[in-house]
Amino acid sequence: MNYDIIVIGSGIVGLGHAWAAAKRGYSVAVFETNSRPEGASIRNFGMVWPIGQPAGEARKHALRNQQLWEELGKAAGFPVEACGSVFLAHHDDEMAVLREFATAESSSDLELEVLSPAQVLKQMPAANPHGLVGGMFSNSERRVHPPTAIASIVSYLNDVVGIDFYFETSITQVQEGEVVAADGRSWSGDRIIIANGAYYKSLFPEQHRAEHYKICKLQMLLSVPQPAGWNLGPHMASGLTLRHYSAFNVCPSLDHVRQRVSETMPELDRYGIHVMASSTPDGELILGDSHEYGDDIDPFDKDEIDQLVMREIHKVLIIPEPSISRRWSGFYAKHPQSMFTIREIESNLYIVNGFGGNGMSLSLAVSESVIDQWEAAKTWEVSNEPA
Ligand SMILES: Cc1cc2nc3c(=O)[nH]c(=O)nc-3n(C[C@H](O)[C@H](O)[C@H](O)COP(=O)(O)OP(=O)(O)OC[C@H]3O[C@@H](n4cnc5c(N)ncnc54)[C@H](O)[C@@H]3O)c2cc1C
Repeated sequence: MNYDIIVIGSGIVGLGHAWAAAKRGYSVAVFETNSRPEGASIRNFGMVWPIGQPAGEARKHALRNQQLWEELGKAAGFPVEACGSVFLAHHDDEMAVLREFATAESSSDLELEVLSPAQVLKQMPAANPHGLVGGMFSNSERRVHPPTAIASIVSYLNDVVGIDFYFETSITQVQEGEVVAADGRSWSGDRIIIANGAYYKSLFPEQHRAEHYKICKLQMLLSVPQPAGWNLGPHMASGLTLRHYSAFNVCPSLDHVRQRVSETMPELDRYGIHVMASSTPDGELILGDSHEYGDDIDPFDKDEIDQLVMREIHKVLIIPEPSISRRWSGFYAKHPQSMFTIREIESNLYIVNGFGGNGMSLSLAVSESVIDQWEAAKTWEVSNEPA
């Protein structure tokens, strides 16, 4: 069987390319090792997060990405909530960063509001008032529930759009327009896209190695459902989170935050911990996270990390039911400089990977640009920029 496009991997990057290609009339097949998507795309916070993307091309992709989630949510029947986000500041240096950021972005596409402690508590009554200095609201962020959204996208693309999905089909070889599964079956495609996320070592490991991707492991927690009527509201990011997203690198006070944390809480730097929270449709809270890279990755999850995440969560949020019902870890591939990479490694064979912690925030728009550029018979070069 020949397809116009073959996609290897059914995470959001693979699904994004499959959707964009099928919308333009191409025949598409998606291959997935597992019986359903089980990678980073179902293990994340569900934060569609323009605020974390640096101004420029990445931000442009992120804002387009947010519109595409809305379109896809409507078509596939899953909620995409316009929840916005609140950064909480419990230290003066964090507040200084938020003010600097709001000033730097005053003429950008982000709509930001610097908040007093009273205004924070109005937006997010669960914010811990103890030591609260203020915060910042952004209305650009969207919320999806990753396991629900990804499962709905697969059903929609399969049942309505007509994309063929081959689950439990691990692709072990790709050669001259053909993909071969572990059981020997093969399919041909005019163009092949490899979107295998953190599992990149299994296909063309040398090309992947040349990109210097780093694998990152994150530990995550899910609270039990909160009492009826209680609502987190927007996504919550803490002052610690400012250290994590390159969008905030433009703020002079960020060095102070980094230095204070490294001097007073080196255990957070050791495990790359900052804290964020998002709510689920069942009233639970998705809480995290940590970042361990490369050889530092422990195959076993560390209770110490969970304890540190919860310690920091309690400093910034008051959660009525803080018991934890689930713990998991997730893995992604991060490019050391770019927000993502797209490479044609042989004629009509592409690797799209390296989105790091931003795949839900960028990949639908990036996939669309890839297919659009192909349509326009240009090259597959899509602009990205340093992470
Ligand atoms: C804990 C965590 C929290 C995050 N939070 C956010 C967030 O809130 N917002 C955000 O924007 N981003 C977030 N991210 C990042 C985001 O989830 C990732 O960037 C994105 O999901 C990567 O998508 P992917 O399709 O490349 O990878 P995956 O979702 O991992 O998909 C790759 C798929 O390829 C399949 N595969 C691999 N090899 C083969 C093969 N040989 N044959 C067939 N199939 C194969 C795998 O089984 C897998 O299903 C988070 C990530 C993690 C881990």
